[in-house]
Parts: sequence; structure tokens; C-alpha cells
Amino acid sequence: MTLSTSLEQYTVWFVTGSQNLYGEETLRQVAEQSQQVVAGLAGLPVRVEWKPVLKDSESIRRLALDANADDSVIGVIAWMHTFSPAKMWITGLDALRKPLLHLHTQANVELPWADIDFDFMNLNQAAHGDREFGYIQTRLGVPRKTVVGHVSNPAVVQQIDDWERAAAGWQAVRTLKLARFGDNMRYVAVTEGDKTEAELQFGVQVNTWGVNELADAVAAATDDQIDALVAEYLEAYDVADELRPGGERHASLRDGAAIEVGLRSFLEAGGFGAFTTSFEDLGALTQLPGLAVQRLMAEGYGFGAEGDWKTAILVRVANVMGAGLPGGASLMEDYTYDLVPGSERILGAHMLEVSPSLTTAKPRLEIHPLGIGGKDDPVRLVFTADPGPALVVALSDMRDRFRLTANVVENVDAPDLPKLPVGRAIWKPAPDFATSAACWLAAGAAHHTVMTTAVGIEVFRDFAEIAGTELVVIDEDTTVRGFQKELRWNQAYYRLARGL
Ligand code: MN
Repeated sequence: MTLSTSLEQYTVWFVTGSQNLYGEETLRQVAEQSQQVVAGLAGLPVRVEWKPVLKDSESIRRLALDANADDSVIGVIAWMHTFSPAKMWITGLDALRKPLLHLHTQANVELPWADIDFDFMNLNQAAHGDREFGYIQTRLGVPRKTVVGHVSNPAVVQQIDDWERAAAGWQAVRTLKLARFGDNMRYVAVTEGDKTEAELQFGVQVNTWGVNELADAVAAATDDQIDALVAEYLEAYDVADELRPGGERHASLRDGAAIEVGLRSFLEAGGFGAFTTSFEDLGALTQLPGLAVQRLMAEGYGFGAEGDWKTAILVRVANVMGAGLPGGASLMEDYTYDLVPGSERILGAHMLEVSPSLTTAKPRLEIHPLGIGGKDDPVRLVFTADPGPALVVALSDMRDRFRLTANVVENVDAPDLPKLPVGRAIWKPAPDFATSAACWLAAGAAHHTVMTTAVGIEVFRDFAEIAGTELVVIDEDTTVRGFQKELRWNQAYYRLARGL
């Protein structure tokens, strides 16, 4: 089964609330105008499907159950064009298990001041109909996103776009199977975590396979499969002469291609969307998987190094949420700093495993020694992430819950790095280096992250809301003192919110 990262497989339902009080003519107009609102959402990445107007408790409950049961439905948008008495919504909202967006909108932009009569008022009463709906959602504690404004406003559509992407990320993680090859890096704390709790909270299945099962799949790669991949590499990358056919190290490139063939076949056979490796546990593999991992991440797979399954989840989620957008998502690690006062920068990289989706340039395909792992020199793609806005996000297991920590950053141009042949990114964190790092450390956030250059913080905010997971954000508004208070309050809030 080939992994799909497309948003085209999903649907969002648009439901309009009303009641039987108004008579057929008004309800006909409600249906017609709500279809016009849906038409205004035609440019969204996930298709919005109009559903017939809801007028009573039983049809509302039935719609919620139908949405729950349909795997292609990733969320519901609700709007109360007229007044829909909210006790009718209690059992339906209580049953709904899909992400909810409350669109507080109106059919018209301007009021027809000269012609307005009470028929118009009767039809266009979302201003208070949606307040009734807001009350019952809040009373029931329904997580949702509220978006306010007319659909002709691009800012309104963008907020729905962000939420759709988050809902798609949620759907992807609910159905995600993650293969760990080997265990976590020995003695490391932050890459550990409660895999049972992760399955309950996020839906992801995290399980381990002996690395030699992967090595068997690699050994099964045929010459034809390897030839085809090598041809693909020669086309896609600027391949070092020594790795080219006839070059003295071409055999190493073929070993790298065999790893890709084996890894891909193992993942496809098991229906996996994410995986981890461990340089301490390579079994019969000839090289630490570098090139193969880089390419699979760029195709949409999640990946974490050193057994880091939590970051692998984030890379998969970010790949889905950013589907179709410029940029990409990758495992990243804060490696080392340039501490020149006033222009501090972070150099991020990993041993090998950074996704080339972070660059629009043609990567170099090279081979160099790797000091750890005790295997043959690995082949790898060498490039620098494009300059521009980016986001780094980490997932930590805080014992009683998971915490997402995000930092809004700016990737910047790199100086020449002739002796650092890996994929890398250089960035400036918001609001400034010292605040960013102090807050990151205070949050207990991991040293591995997903870096995304495709989606911004709003998509992750929506994802965290849908997932019911704590998210602390370091951005241009952050101060260390304010952030420390938020962490302290969150300790209490998330324990109370969880109950017993
Ligand atoms: Mn690492």
C-alpha cells in the first residue's frame, strides 16, 4: 500500500442549523443561502460538502453519528443561519467525535438598510442564533474553532483552511501505524514515552520490529529495483563523481538504494506511515540509513532518529497538514549556536536525516565517513534549507500528559559550509535567541523537533485544540516571565481538565 499524503481523500461536512418554526419558504431560503456559503468555500484544500438543513434533535444526532462513522469525513462546520434552539444540539454535540468548526457568518455582507423588513430579520439572525449555539458548545465543553466573518473575506477562508489542515493531520494520526526499528538510544530520556497513552491520546499505533527484519527486506532488493533507483538519483540530484556508475564508490550508492528499496517495501507491506531507526542497532544493515530516510520523509513519511517515535509522529502530521503547499517538513535537531551578540543563529542538522523538502535547490548526493554507528560510510543528501518563515515543534511526555512546544523561527541564508556535508538549516528564533532558548528549556521541550516550512503556528494551534493536547508557543509576543507563568498554570489546568 503506497502512502497517501493527499488531502483530496477527505471531506468536511457543512451543516446549517434551523428549526421548523419558520415555514417552508424561509427554510428554502436557508438551504439556498447556506449552499451559497459552501460555494464560497470552494477553494479550500479539503472539499466542503453541503448537508441538508438540520431542524430537530434526532436529525442532528443522526448527522453526528454518520460523521463519526465515515472515515473520509474529517470534520464538521456548523452555522446557525436562523435561530436553532440549542437544546436540540445537546445529544448530537455530545455524540460528535469529529473536529468541529463553528462558522459565525451571514449570507449577506451589507445590510439593505432601505429595504430591510422583519422577513429579512427573521431569515438572517445568525448574530444571535450562533450565540445560542456558542452557549451550548461551551456549556458542554465541546472543543472547537470559532471563525467569524463573511466567506468573501480571505482572512476568514484562511482560518478555515488552517483548521482543515489540522483536521487532516488529526485524521492521519488517528490512523497512523509507526514502525520502530530497534529501541531508543540508550540512556536518553526525552525520546522515551508512554506508547500506550499515545495510542489513546492520538490514535497512533507504535510498535517495534527487530532491525534484521528490515535487513532481510533490504537483502531482498533486486538489481532491477536498485538500477531504477540509481537512475532516479542521477536525475534528481547532483551526484558526486565517486558515486556515479563507474565511480570508485558506486557500490556504496547501490547499498544506499537497496536500503531504500527494503525500507519502502517493509513500510508499504505493513501500512506504516512513520518509522524510527537507531544507530546503536543496525544489525546487518551496511550503512546507517541516510539517503533513504531523507527521501521517504520528503514523500510524506514521518521519521525520528534514535528511536524517537514522538518526533516521527510530528513529521508525519506536519507532512499531511502541509500537503500541496510549498516547503516541507523534516526531523530537525538544534545542534550548535552562533552566539555573536545581536545576530545569534541556530545551526540545525542531524547525523544524516534531514528532509530535502526543506530546499528548492538540487541537493548534492555525497558519501562521507560517519564517526558513530560503526558501519560503512553512508550516502546522504547535502543541502541547506531555503530562507523563509519556519516553525519547530517538539513533543514531550510530561508523565501525566503530552506537551507540544512550538517556536516560530526564520530560516536564514547560510554561509558556505564546505566541511559539513549534511542537510541543515540555519535559523533565528522568535522573539530573540535568549528568550527562545530559555523558554524552550523551561518547557522541557525535546532536542529533536519537526521543522515545517509549509504550515504556520495557526495550524498547530488548531491541531492541539482538536487533539486536546497542551501546546505552548514561543513567538514574537513571548516573554520568559509570562511563559513561566503559563507553564505553571498549565500544570494545574491539564491535571484538573483530565479529571480522575
Ligand atoms: Mn538526535
